[in-house]
Amino acid sequence: MNNAARAVLSTILVVAPAIAPKVVAAETQLRPKALMIMVDGLRADAVENAPMTNLLRLRDGKWQKGYRGFSSLAGHTLYDARPSSAANHAAIATGVTAAKTGVYKNGDTPNGAFARWPSWLARVVDARPEKKALYTYSWPGDAQLSPHPKVRNLPLTTVITNNWPVGGSYEKNATTVSRLMARDDAPDAVLYFIDIGDWGGHRSGFYPYGWEYVHDIRLADRIIGDVLAAIASRPSFDEEDWLVMVTSDHGGYGKSHGIWGGQATTIPVVIAGRHVPQGRIAGTPHNFDLAPLAIAHFGVDVSTMELDGNPPRAVAADVVRPLNEGLAVYMPFDGAQAVPCNVIAGGPSPKAHGATRSGIGGGAFGNCLRVAADGNGACGVSLEGSESLAFENGADFAFTLWLRLDDEQSPQAPIVSNKDWESGNNPGVVLIGARKTEKVKDYGVCFNSAISSKKARIDMGTFDIDYGEWCFYAVTRSSDGVLTVYQGGRDGRLYWIAEDASAISFKTGLPFWIGQDGTGKCKVSMKGDVDDFALWTRPLSRDDVRRIYNAGRRGDSLADLLTR
Ligand SMILES: [Zn+2]
Repeated sequence: MNNAARAVLSTILVVAPAIAPKVVAAETQLRPKALMIMVDGLRADAVENAPMTNLLRLRDGKWQKGYRGFSSLAGHTLYDARPSSAANHAAIATGVTAAKTGVYKNGDTPNGAFARWPSWLARVVDARPEKKALYTYSWPGDAQLSPHPKVRNLPLTTVITNNWPVGGSYEKNATTVSRLMARDDAPDAVLYFIDIGDWGGHRSGFYPYGWEYVHDIRLADRIIGDVLAAIASRPSFDEEDWLVMVTSDHGGYGKSHGIWGGQATTIPVVIAGRHVPQGRIAGTPHNFDLAPLAIAHFGVDVSTMELDGNPPRAVAADVVRPLNEGLAVYMPFDGAQAVPCNVIAGGPSPKAHGATRSGIGGGAFGNCLRVAADGNGACGVSLEGSESLAFENGADFAFTLWLRLDDEQSPQAPIVSNKDWESGNNPGVVLIGARKTEKVKDYGVCFNSAISSKKARIDMGTFDIDYGEWCFYAVTRSSDGVLTVYQGGRDGRLYWIAEDASAISFKTGLPFWIGQDGTGKCKVSMKGDVDDFALWTRPLSRDDVRRIYNAGRRGDSLADLLTR
């Protein structure tokens, strides 16, 4: 070290101690503040499809300098009460499930066990009496959710006529809350229930979206934007440590919710803060996981509270991979020959059974595969050798296809499967055409998978079918165990539902089939056309799925993406 360098170093050494404690002090002096927003009836896929730009900015870590976004658009509602409002509101507020709050359905809230299981706001002010807490809502059913002398309850008024919220009442409420948040003496802990999304869903459909639903969730997004702007405008904002959380109580199918199977249970969980990582939350977070996170943000120990929620911690290891990586089967069905061909060298060999023909004109891209069950035994394509493919983590997989179902369809007919579909409890997976799930009137595309506990199984759906029209489907399980079923609609929207499949029972010793189950002996076969079928031995990210779907909407097949 020369003298000049030594001189510089000594300067730093002298200066450093003076600076360092100051920085540390500033960090520790940041005042904790927390805002939790529940948007009623918000499907996870609606966040991207609407799009909700303010919520997406929060997710993407673009809200304010120093704030990152930790999120999942495959979160889940309560598992011990149906995806309806009151039960999930109670869970979101308290961090415990219905078994503890006793709120299983609308109308149960006044008798909820909130003295034993108080809201997270009550927990904060009990432990930190100098903090101020605000609970604000507009749905009267939420009135008795946070009874506590030190939690300010602020009911907001909405005017409903003709089953329609009168224009301006939600905006007016947003202004009230925003003004409160901008004040010097703003509350430190805030729970804000916005019930607008539910209105549009019940009027015009949660899925597939009616325009009133899109309108209402975009209004909810503007309210989120207004409140966040008010917070960021605070003169003391730089000395504050905000934790912003957004989630929902349920999604919906048609004009209702309360249905198991994904359409009503898949919800967003978005966290923005200075101390969270940027990225996707690994696994399946629940809406009641946020309350313990909020309490802990105020330095309060949650470990002895017996809460059911687990603050999300792990970031999913999503890496961008080329589309051809792990691609074991790709069948464009374009050649003139009747026998389908897997263009991936060394991959499983397709074998056509019954009245199944490749190279049929009128496909989504050139020719396609026709599977026409004729009642005379097995019909479809078996992928010989797919039973011995090495799937990552034993059960990470993905398949995509374009599908045009005939309007005459045998109920429960398998579209893609590697299982014995005699029972949904058998190991393996099946994408099903023409199935009805509970409370749903029409047949639709559904999904079933076994999980390792014998009694339990995953049943997902329903996706509506436009018979005689091409539609995109994708199914994948991520390395952190999230199973997602996608439908790329003709309206240009990519719909999805998700379930926790960390304990999936995937390996069956049977090959994958198209149009039949893994045995080739299912009593019913699919009737319809398939194009551009692909199977991967690894997960596809949502970006991958969206890319394939969007390309298809432009008329580009997977081959066009692979050769680019
Ligand atoms: Zn609701």
